[in-house]
Amino acid sequence: MKNSADCDVIIIGAGPYGLSAYAHLRASGVNAKIFGEPMEFWDKKMPTGMLLRSPREASTISDPDSRFTLEAYEAATGTKPEKRVPRETFVNYGKWFETQLGSGVDRRNVAKLSPDGSGFEVALADGTKFKSKRVVIAAGVGPFKKSPAWLSDLPADRVSHCYEGRDLLSLGKRVAVIGAGQSALECAALLCEAGVDVEVIARIPELRWIGMHKRLHQLGPISKMLYSKHDVGPIGISRLVAYPKAMYHVPLAVKDPIRKRAVRSAGAPWLIPRLNEVKITTGHSVTSAKKLNGEVQLILDDGSERRVDHVLMGTGYDVDVSKYGFLSPELVKAIRQLDGYPDLTAGFSSSVSGLHFIGAAAARNFGPLLYFVAGTEFSSKELTRYFVRNQPRNGAN
Ligand SMILES: Cc1cc2nc3c(=O)[nH]c(=O)nc-3n(C[C@H](O)[C@H](O)[C@H](O)COP(=O)(O)OP(=O)(O)OC[C@H]3O[C@@H](n4cnc5c(N)ncnc54)[C@H](O)[C@@H]3O)c2cc1C
Repeated sequence: MKNSADCDVIIIGAGPYGLSAYAHLRASGVNAKIFGEPMEFWDKKMPTGMLLRSPREASTISDPDSRFTLEAYEAATGTKPEKRVPRETFVNYGKWFETQLGSGVDRRNVAKLSPDGSGFEVALADGTKFKSKRVVIAAGVGPFKKSPAWLSDLPADRVSHCYEGRDLLSLGKRVAVIGAGQSALECAALLCEAGVDVEVIARIPELRWIGMHKRLHQLGPISKMLYSKHDVGPIGISRLVAYPKAMYHVPLAVKDPIRKRAVRSAGAPWLIPRLNEVKITTGHSVTSAKKLNGEVQLILDDGSERRVDHVLMGTGYDVDVSKYGFLSPELVKAIRQLDGYPDLTAGFSSSVSGLHFIGAAAARNFGPLLYFVAGTEFSSKELTRYFVRNQPRNGAN
């Protein structure tokens, strides 16, 4: 062991959720450490040129005094406020948020997390080890990308996921984009605008668009009763999912369909004109894909064939905590799961005492707001309240 340091809480991941939790915990006097390159996922994995789907008012990373809002960042740095926030602005905002917290983020990645007596041992790739009474996992959805079985015959250089950091302009002249959600449709628009011959192939019968009931959004106070400012989910559901604490108490049989409805595949309406030149094939799925004479051959379920240079997957992700490679096998086994999601209780506590999950991994119990930046306010406040009320005694939880 090169080095060791005891602390109360270690946070793994310095994306919006980890940074926000760190800000709140530190302000409450909790002895916390955080690991990870700030905003790495947004900076290195999201496509260049993308715009946030979430409205501006739902794109702020929460801090305890609301001093480090998106607006505060724009004012402090002279960044022009845009109606739709560009990815680059959001990345720079997250990095600025980190600098406002002062020193503290350790940019190294966690290689292994293991149980250690009544707490945990966190090992870094260089062999440095830390001990902590509690660990908060805020490691995002990077490892949860969906990979359909028909992809297995394609070489790795011919297929990629919308958010695995490939330069869209390096994919070739003909690209098939699979999926009908925001990331698939936005990547298709970006490719088309760059002169690529692009086709969207989606299983759903026709493309869906978010917020098409424009008039309902323009009724002032009535609209506020129908939709929350986060704009996650349709009329009514939007209000309910804005309260993760209430969602937590709703039985799974009711909240699962609500969650799925709130984040079903759909694009933002501002993408519609940008897709005018894109070929859209809906109601069909790909049944096989292979490399043939230097091209990718796709066969669809109607027997039709496509020849492209690259297949870009916009097929979303399935949370499966066993895919967090840093979790020791003992921990994976001990975490009670609900189809890959950790089964969480108050304070985002998993079944392993002292181990907590925030962000998308918490969405099964606390609802779909936890998939979005807007959920940082609830998660950070709830976590801090829980830690302050439930101080570990004598190293035990
Ligand atoms: C294509 C796409 C578009 C989206 N658009 C929006 C949007 O417009 N608005 C919105 O609110 N949400 C959007 N989201 C959801 C978005 O993922 C979340 O809002 C937000 O990124 C969640 O923050 P997070 O901190 O949980 O995860 P992340 O942002 O993924 O951060 C997790 C961090 O953990 C780090 N990490 C992982 N493993 C380790 C390790 N072992 N050691 C150290 N660090 C580690 C990663 O490097 C990563 O930076 C989008 C998601 C996708 C995929």
